[in-house]
Amino acid sequence: MKTRHKNIPFFIPHEGCGFRCIFCSQTKITGVCRSAEQTAEECRELAETVEASLMTLHDGDSAEIAFFGGSFTGIERERMISLLETAEKYIGDRITGIRLSTRPDYIDGEICDILKAHGVTAVELGIQSVSDRVLDLNRRGHHSDVSEKACYLLKENGFLLTGQMMCGLYGSTREDEVDTAGAIVRWGCDSARIYPTVVFSGTELMTLTKQGKYTPLTTEEAVSRAADCASVFVKNGVKILRIGLHSSENLAEAPFGAKHPALGELVMSEIYYKEIRDALGGAGDNVVVYVPLGCVSKAVGQHRANAVRLENETGKRLSFREDKSLPEYKIRIETN
Ligand code: SF4
Repeated sequence: MKTRHKNIPFFIPHEGCGFRCIFCSQTKITGVCRSAEQTAEECRELAETVEASLMTLHDGDSAEIAFFGGSFTGIERERMISLLETAEKYIGDRITGIRLSTRPDYIDGEICDILKAHGVTAVELGIQSVSDRVLDLNRRGHHSDVSEKACYLLKENGFLLTGQMMCGLYGSTREDEVDTAGAIVRWGCDSARIYPTVVFSGTELMTLTKQGKYTPLTTEEAVSRAADCASVFVKNGVKILRIGLHSSENLAEAPFGAKHPALGELVMSEIYYKEIRDALGGAGDNVVVYVPLGCVSKAVGQHRANAVRLENETGKRLSFREDKSLPEYKIRIETN
């Protein structure tokens, strides 16, 4: 049986963050709001979550405990350490480490020391944009120099680093987003997540939308912009961990924005479209497109959308085959 590596997610609600980014609806995302005083209860919940997940692991599977949802290193120090101590006890053969997400301005040398001492192996940073103008407009509360410093500090301290970025933020352009992807590569991130913006009810972004000051992303725009950023990661060997928010009731209820439940799949198809389109120049009329194992449907696209689009654009006839020697998103073509 194929072995898997999975995350055991544990959500830290909004009280970990003293900010209010205009797009953030953190309580809605987690659906739970616990007070800081409930640390002991929270640690019990964490232990139960880990133990329940351990029961679902098959032989040979491994997992990381993943603190997501808020800004983990910004919560009260005592609470953070209690949660880390609870998680740390499970590190062994099957739980390989702890992963967490946080803001760039909640990283410093002391935090790195605490995280290392408690078995944290991977940190995900909410970089979102490297345009200071966009960061200000969205009330992120810091500028890009802070993100850059945090990335270097985390890498110096040996953490695996994931850069999280957004597309379609208020005031953001496609160029800002491609720049952000480039910075995530330059600053040494090992992996990335791309979140096209969703407009949730009750957020300031929703107010701006109603006032006509913000135009939410359409699915097509979200796919196209996320694919441009994803291509930067693919070309530079930065692994893409996720594109788009996880589907949930809250996401389905969001009034506007990039809430298509299969957004990641659509973006992956778009990446293959671009790779194939770029490779077709100079090819003959009948082309065999080789794609990585298990990727034919992504390359062909939903309802053969990519195949039809490429054939119409180039006038060539395409067929698709797998080549297990190809890494993700790489293709090669042969002309008959
Ligand atoms: S930093 Fe994160 S949790 Fe805090 S308001 Fe912004 S998006 Fe929400």
